[in-house]
Amino acid sequence: MELSRREFLKLSGAGASGMAVLGLMKPEIGRAGALPAEIPLHKKVGETTTICCYCGCGCGFITASENGILVNLEGDPDHPINEGGACAKGGAQFQLSAHNPRRLRKVGYRAPGASEWEEKSWDWAIDEIAKRIKNTRDSNWVEKDKDGYTVNRTEGIASLGGAALDNEECYLLAKLMRALGLVYIEHQARI
Ligand code: SF4
Repeated sequence: MELSRREFLKLSGAGASGMAVLGLMKPEIGRAGALPAEIPLHKKVGETTTICCYCGCGCGFITASENGILVNLEGDPDHPINEGGACAKGGAQFQLSAHNPRRLRKVGYRAPGASEWEEKSWDWAIDEIAKRIKNTRDSNWVEKDKDGYTVNRTEGIASLGGAALDNEECYLLAKLMRALGLVYIEHQARI
């Protein structure tokens, strides 16, 4: 009999609780229950769960990889938010995979007024971003507000975080933005 992941977990849970009620299964503290030698998954590849990075809904997904390459992606039926569903955007997360042949791997820069893209190095891009942030920050610096209170902030830059950021990344991002003097700090999941 072929079982889906959900059916397998349901049957395992029902069997375990039935045995516990009948007193046939004595729980042992500190010892993990033995797993069957082979879980009857449909695909014999490495599977792991993850969270969709695209929006604040936070749908759960199961990714399957073979030899380090993503070979399947599907909504996680055991996830309480999406229960196996996936919108078109979430279902297209393969495009984020390092093995997506269409993924951009180099920095493309089109100068103001130019019609052609130039290829640039990552070092150039990072220096350029830092330079522009510094220039914008300095030229929009507000030392005192209209009532004369010292505020020391920049109103020329805003930060918008994305759902792909985890707690730790959000913490670091917020710290950096505050250190730069930003006050317009938002997160996409709240919009
Ligand atoms: S699958 Fe769709 S709805 Fe769910 S988190 Fe991803 S983008 Fe949002």
